[in-house]
Amino acid sequence: MTEDIGLDTKILKGIPVSNHIRSNLSKDIKILAQYGIIPGLAVVLVGDDPASKVYVRNKEDVFKKYNCCSKTYNLPNETTETELLKLISSLNSDSNFHGILVQLPLPKQIDNQKILLQISPDKDVDGFHPINLGNLLSGRPSFIPCTPNGVIQILDYYNIKVSGRHAVIIGRSNIVGKPMFALLAQKFEVGNATVTICHTGTKDLKKITKQADIIIAAVGIPNLISADMISKGVDIIDVGINRIYDKSKRGFSLVGDVDYNSVLGKANSITPVPGGVGPMTISMLLSNTVKSAMRLIHS
Ligand code: NAP
Repeated sequence: MTEDIGLDTKILKGIPVSNHIRSNLSKDIKILAQYGIIPGLAVVLVGDDPASKVYVRNKEDVFKKYNCCSKTYNLPNETTETELLKLISSLNSDSNFHGILVQLPLPKQIDNQKILLQISPDKDVDGFHPINLGNLLSGRPSFIPCTPNGVIQILDYYNIKVSGRHAVIIGRSNIVGKPMFALLAQKFEVGNATVTICHTGTKDLKKITKQADIIIAAVGIPNLISADMISKGVDIIDVGINRIYDKSKRGFSLVGDVDYNSVLGKANSITPVPGGVGPMTISMLLSNTVKSAMRLIHS
């Protein structure tokens, strides 16, 4: 259902924000080069999940383009937890790597949480280690999880007011929803919002999204949020990336959690899918890896 009430909805594209961040990072990468330091990321990929392979290749390409190093450790699907823990242990002490990323999902014989705990918090560029999540919650962030940080960068770049407004996050995952809550609720420059977090236990989602000044959708359900669930003038960040299978050459198209066309003309702004939050995640990963390497010359 379209509820166009005449607003000229601003489209918050991720690429200009991503380019802006990368051009700032280039300066730090040049400084590091003067010290003979090349920011290095070790990516551990277990198994042959096609989507994971694409993500990993994209990371490698971006790191290479910015004169950084991303090395992938491709392990077979049958890898044991002990073998993976041993590899991470050796990467923790390898000075070529300033960041370690274990590509999720992992095969079922491996306990995700055990693996995340094994990564040194100093190299945890995904920001998923409980120490880094705790630092974020206590208002002294070290590595901020990439996707929520990407959302903050978009809000900042497009001057979307956050302080004093009501932000409604839909989704409470450890990688998006919860860190997003920690960021928006803090007394940060882009923060200081009143934040509500919704999930499958939420009784009347529409009642809550209607009260939002900002909606952050991170659910994984195509077009869950429709025009009748929002109020006029809301700013929407759509984190969701969902495949809709069709007869196109690729066999599918990508859509977000928000029914994009229906909210145009009613929302004040919205990130598109694809091309909104998506391009931010790798840039924030590059940013965390460079930040980790910069610690060597600032320590
Ligand atoms: P997730 O771990 O599956 O979490 C989904 C969350 O949504 C859960 O908290 C779940 O609630 C909640 N939820 C599910 N159905 C709901 C409903 N009907 N009403 C309200 N809440 C509901 O997902 P995720 O990893 O956070 O990812 C979310 C989406 O973001 C996915 O589409 C993913 O592909 C995308 N994503 C994009 C990027 C990017 O780079 N742009 C990065 C990461 C993720 P419960 O906790 O109660 O189950």
